[in-house]
Amino acid sequence: MLTGTEGIVLKTQKYGDADLIVTYLTSDRGIINAFAKSPRKTRSRFGSSLEPLTHARISLWGKEQSLPRITQADIINSFRQIRDNFQDFINASKLVEMLISLIPEGIPNKRLFAFFLNILNFIKSSGQETKEALHLIAQIRLLTAIGYAPRLKGCGKCGTRSLDFYPDSGTTLCGKCASLPLAKGKPFIRINNKVIHFYTHSIEWPINISNRLKPNPETLTELSGLLDKHLTYLLSKKLRSSEFLAATTRPRPRPF
Ligand SMILES: [Zn+2]
Repeated sequence: MLTGTEGIVLKTQKYGDADLIVTYLTSDRGIINAFAKSPRKTRSRFGSSLEPLTHARISLWGKEQSLPRITQADIINSFRQIRDNFQDFINASKLVEMLISLIPEGIPNKRLFAFFLNILNFIKSSGQETKEALHLIAQIRLLTAIGYAPRLKGCGKCGTRSLDFYPDSGTTLCGKCASLPLAKGKPFIRINNKVIHFYTHSIEWPINISNRLKPNPETLTELSGLLDKHLTYLLSKKLRSSEFLAATTRPRPRPF
């Protein structure tokens, strides 16, 4: 069956000598993998349409459950400017990693697609002087959109004001709740009100006016460190859980 959709290339993996497996975020099927025959040969009809971050109209052949084959990919926006700028590309790659690691495949989410496209357009068109803040805002908003944003506004258990963020819990906790068995003795990061203020506005303000937020460099550094710790915890937890799953489903060795 031939179907058409819009997709943004998240990553590609080599397959055999000349073929590729392309991971897309699509407008109507969520994250999917598709197969591209011989795109690495010179004068391939795919041209540069399979480069990471390319937004294209794609035609797929095959059953929905199996690995569909890409029969055509017409570029809508190449986002070449992002790939050509080292900092932009590194930061966009981080967003891609978050999507791939935290979103299950094949779950349609039109809003997420529109949102990610919007972020790429903002990264592409923003001036360099506001870029550092924008990259951080993009991370925060993506985490919010997929339900994994850390909570920094008050204790996550009782709401009391607190400045101690516990990466293991993904939230700030007050002294009382932090002394409960589950959080007791766990590492925390002391934040300040400027970080909370910038974080809250990053989520609440529309992204197109977020360049009016003018955080100082210390705020950016602190918040970026906090998000990295949050992500490390989220992603390693994810990895650990998938390792565990693999270990429990592995066939048992046969006795001699
Ligand atoms: Zn509390």
